[in-house]
Amino acid sequence: MAEKELPFTKNQLVEIIKKYPTPFHIYDEKAIRENAREFKNAFSWNEGFKEFFAVKAAPNPHLLKILHKEGFGADCSSLAELILAEKTGITGEEIMFTSNDTPVDEFVKAKKLQAIMNLDDLSHIAYLEKYAGLPSLICFRYNPGPLKKGNLIIGHPEEAKYGFTREQLFEGYKICRDKGVKRFGIHTMVASNELDAGYFAETAQILFELIAELSRELNISFEFVNLGGGVGIPYRPEQKRIDLKAMSLGIKEKYEKIIVANGLGPIKIYTECGRYITGPYGYLIARVLHIKNTYKKFAGLDACMANLMRPALYGAYHHITVLGKEKQTPAVVYDVTGSLCENNDKFAIDRELPELERDDIIAIHDAGAHGFAMGFNYNGKLRSAELLLRENGEVIPIRRPETTDDYFATLDFAGLLSFPV
Ligand SMILES: *Cc1c(COP(=O)(O)O)cnc(C)c1O
Repeated sequence: MAEKELPFTKNQLVEIIKKYPTPFHIYDEKAIRENAREFKNAFSWNEGFKEFFAVKAAPNPHLLKILHKEGFGADCSSLAELILAEKTGITGEEIMFTSNDTPVDEFVKAKKLQAIMNLDDLSHIAYLEKYAGLPSLICFRYNPGPLKKGNLIIGHPEEAKYGFTREQLFEGYKICRDKGVKRFGIHTMVASNELDAGYFAETAQILFELIAELSRELNISFEFVNLGGGVGIPYRPEQKRIDLKAMSLGIKEKYEKIIVANGLGPIKIYTECGRYITGPYGYLIARVLHIKNTYKKFAGLDACMANLMRPALYGAYHHITVLGKEKQTPAVVYDVTGSLCENNDKFAIDRELPELERDDIIAIHDAGAHGFAMGFNYNGKLRSAELLLRENGEVIPIRRPETTDDYFATLDFAGLLSFPV
């Protein structure tokens, strides 16, 4: 089987580990930047194209700052994500606020930052107006329902909690138009981890056709179309990267056929990808703690599902490289586990790997999006550090590891003294 590459050698990693003990996440700045440029270039035909990085995928200000430098905005969906964007210097219409079931303080904060408001429901128009005031630019999230087949992770659109129905879109834009809103956008997101380039052209077609109808019927014009995130990455070594150029070209064809041909536009294409932008360029580095032989062979790591939940959560495949053993035949079958008291705390099940021993260093690939970010503290597990491998080869910490003090910070031990039981 093909091996996946790493941006460092075993010796380099051993040096890094001397300073920063495992487990940790490490991100490859050079690769992130190159990928960001390639992504942007793929859409250079569209003036005003912008990617709003989905902050939830990798909520670290250092990564956001790098991506902002490459021209990306931020897609936020919570108060903390809005604050993170603000602290990174991303404000105004460089923020896409794509929330759902939104609390009032989030609308107020987003409005204050002058973020682009992407509403998830018809009822949010009045809610937003009442508590924060209507903005001058508004966007609605469309849920195409049975018109579009969802993919595996995200499920059928008509079962999804997100977005407006088609009829509600017409009503929503009309309400906003009549209230004096002048600038409009439209959004949908119906895929997750999709590797088929054609899927995105189909999504664009649906939105472009809607724009044509809405523009005609309501006499409004659209500034942008936000195609959402969901561009996939090849987690398995035998999978291929999505053909970005083909994807962009497919969208361009629909744009010309529907937008240009109807005398509409120019309309800016926006995306809000997370996974595609940082996913392949982050690694979870761990060590083998114990090898256990019972009914199966288990390799227990010093990392657990608190550091990377995707395999336990939805059986996701993450490729594993054993440093220094890349050339060895993967002749032994292991379950690669963590230490959480949950039997599904496994990074891999029945994975063929080289013979493992205590202290082997393991790199778990494609952990750069929805990896650290999904971390949690169940079982008293602490979240790891995040490191950045800079373009000059230097390694800097961009988040320290949690300590037990962090874990206990919300408890009142002092109050125990005056707590009669
Ligand atoms: C999660 C999410 C994204 C990013 O999804 P990826 O699969 O990481 O590209 C974008 N937009 C919204 C609204 C999301 O919820």
